[in-house]
Amino acid sequence: MTGSAPPPGKRAAGFYRYKVGDYEITAVTDGATTSPLAENFVINQKKDDVNAALAVAFLEKDKVTIPYTPIVVNTGTKLIVMDTGTAEANFERTKGAAGQFQTNLKAAGFDRDAVDMVVISHFHRDHFDGLLSADDKPAFPNAEILVPAVEWKYWMDDGEMSRAPAGRIADQFKNARRVFDALGRKVTQYEAGKDVAPGITAVATYGHSPGHTSYVISSGAGKVFVQVDVTNLPQLFARNPGWHAFFDHDPKMAEETRRKVYDMLAAEKMMVQGFHYPFPAVAYVEKTPTGYREIPVSWNPMP
Ligand SMILES: [Zn+2]
Repeated sequence: MTGSAPPPGKRAAGFYRYKVGDYEITAVTDGATTSPLAENFVINQKKDDVNAALAVAFLEKDKVTIPYTPIVVNTGTKLIVMDTGTAEANFERTKGAAGQFQTNLKAAGFDRDAVDMVVISHFHRDHFDGLLSADDKPAFPNAEILVPAVEWKYWMDDGEMSRAPAGRIADQFKNARRVFDALGRKVTQYEAGKDVAPGITAVATYGHSPGHTSYVISSGAGKVFVQVDVTNLPQLFARNPGWHAFFDHDPKMAEETRRKVYDMLAAEKMMVQGFHYPFPAVAYVEKTPTGYREIPVSWNPMP
């Protein structure tokens, strides 16, 4: 017998379901993109030290692979998408590496027309570009779009835009207008500390972005903290909470937020869902002498 079957070179559709009380959560991958490790990926560390941390986590040196994992929450009465991934248009741009959210959503049995709400955490492209379909139409035509009021106030303010440094930050202002103008700016703003939906409470976790928001989802005795980008890759930034990723808007505030959130996660032994964690992006956190360590949940065939 020889192995003559052609290798398919593709993975199965990526989604993972689990229960939080009566709620069903489905982590749905948008894919992941790999880039060379930039000199300033961690602005307050040398590249050699970042490579050493990658080695500790058994990751390849000189490159970073960043996964994107939005989630779908079914509360029993509402179907809620939380963050959208990098958008369908990104599928071609990345040769299929990312922009997979809608395909995997469908594979997970969801109809985009049935989504009641889309809750956006902050206005970085990987989190909200997917509000638009490949032809710049609403990707979730029947959904109410919820955005953090603080985030909206900053990025949609023309005065703030006029003072923004050219390059990445200026582009983020322009991109927010591109996406929300295509939606006729039809959004509902929400405040931190309040519920965005029954059992889903918005938590201010500012720093990564001016209005960056996380969530506690609770139902019955179940609870999960949706940390969004409190850390980027946990292998680097949970294990080294003092490291500042170059895309943190206010790195000092982001670090304070990170330490506060991770102290809480470790103390309360609370499950965490992390947008840039390894798929399915669900873990627990423990404190270590130098920071924190993420322990991925064990896979279970039954939700
Ligand atoms: Zn992100």
